[in-house]
Amino acid sequence: MHVLSHSDPEVAAIIADEEQRQVETLEMIASENYASAGVLEVTGSVFTNKYAEGYPGKRYYAGNQHSDRLETLAIERAKQLFGAEHANVQPTSGAEANMAAYLAFAQPGDTIMGLELSQGGHLTHGSPVNFSGRLYNFVAYSVDRESEVVDMEDVRRLAREHKPRIIVCGATAYPRTVDFPAFAEIAQETGALLMADMSHIAGLVAGGEHISPVPYADIVTTTTHKTLRGPRGALALCKEQHAEALDKAVFPGTQGGPHLHSIGAKAVAFGEALAPEFKHYARQVVENAAALADELMKGGLRLVSGGTDNHLLLADCNSKGISGLKAQNALQGAGIITNRNTIPYDERPPYVGSGLRIGTAALTSRQMATDEMRRVARWILRVLDDPDGDGVREGVRSEVAEFAKAYPVPGITDR
Ligand SMILES: *Cc1c(COP(=O)(O)O)cnc(C)c1O
Repeated sequence: MHVLSHSDPEVAAIIADEEQRQVETLEMIASENYASAGVLEVTGSVFTNKYAEGYPGKRYYAGNQHSDRLETLAIERAKQLFGAEHANVQPTSGAEANMAAYLAFAQPGDTIMGLELSQGGHLTHGSPVNFSGRLYNFVAYSVDRESEVVDMEDVRRLAREHKPRIIVCGATAYPRTVDFPAFAEIAQETGALLMADMSHIAGLVAGGEHISPVPYADIVTTTTHKTLRGPRGALALCKEQHAEALDKAVFPGTQGGPHLHSIGAKAVAFGEALAPEFKHYARQVVENAAALADELMKGGLRLVSGGTDNHLLLADCNSKGISGLKAQNALQGAGIITNRNTIPYDERPPYVGSGLRIGTAALTSRQMATDEMRRVARWILRVLDDPDGDGVREGVRSEVAEFAKAYPVPGITDR
């Protein structure tokens, strides 16, 4: 920030404060992570200046010889990383990628199936206030009331009944493995296309810790900034037969000029994910979530579905007699950053929620392992057992800040 601190000290000061916050708190929002110094450097590069509407070799602007190299590299790495036939690296966000996928394969008014939003689905999987719910006829499938795992029989029954054009699988607050082969079988039986939104788990898929949707789904969308640890942005993968439809739906269908600075940063992130160390990271993320879950349950916190298979867990705060909102705010006061969420069949409104979503990706990127997770779990329990206790919160907050400072933060302490 040495340039900015002279040219615009006001903004530079805000960024410095945010860096400090990211160092001194425990980032446990399941959709967040720490991008590497390399990823940040490319995000701040001169490619932000360049217009490149179109695709490599077919641009609507001059001067794109280096843009083409950059985007082609990102595409090739994405295909290699996920074993995909075709990759589009232009979607600027997960929501945009999903919009393009629907535009490519459905008409307004068509039926699409997705996981019930209050049970872990995403806004773009049919929320009535989102474009998806307004333009398409979404039908929601559910998790089983007892097991709190996606009820594949419900999926099959609804798919037979509604004959959807697309079945969407993947979620934003779901702690269990997504059964892509089972979804593919149902899609095949009912003549639907299968779309897998692996936004949350892409890093686990890349690292071999979650079954890949690529062999099973017609189209796969994902953000690049969650467990995958790249820049803010997204990626869409598909079989060769759908490549043209997908590319057209991204540009000119839903977007203008590609964000080349972000595409370059995606190339860097894919390169990092192809390196052997990334497998260790992905494994550690999952082991950390399991250790965190175990320690929290020992402390009397109920977890939706009784645990986790991936990088996140969803705690039922009713087991501590408080709402998700209250839990989130109490933990924030203690320097532990999470987000509230609804739980399946929640009786509280979404703004309050009974759940707390907690992820381990960002802390794993800080080199924390299972011992650290157990320690963090005990801090969480201390706060949730006495959410109104100012002394407890203050005490945990200073212990957390002291503890956190000892761990490196990619993109911050190494720059
Ligand atoms: C995060 C997420 C998205 C949206 O990504 P944005 O980049 O925030 O638009 C879409 N789908 C799922 C499942 C997600 O978890």
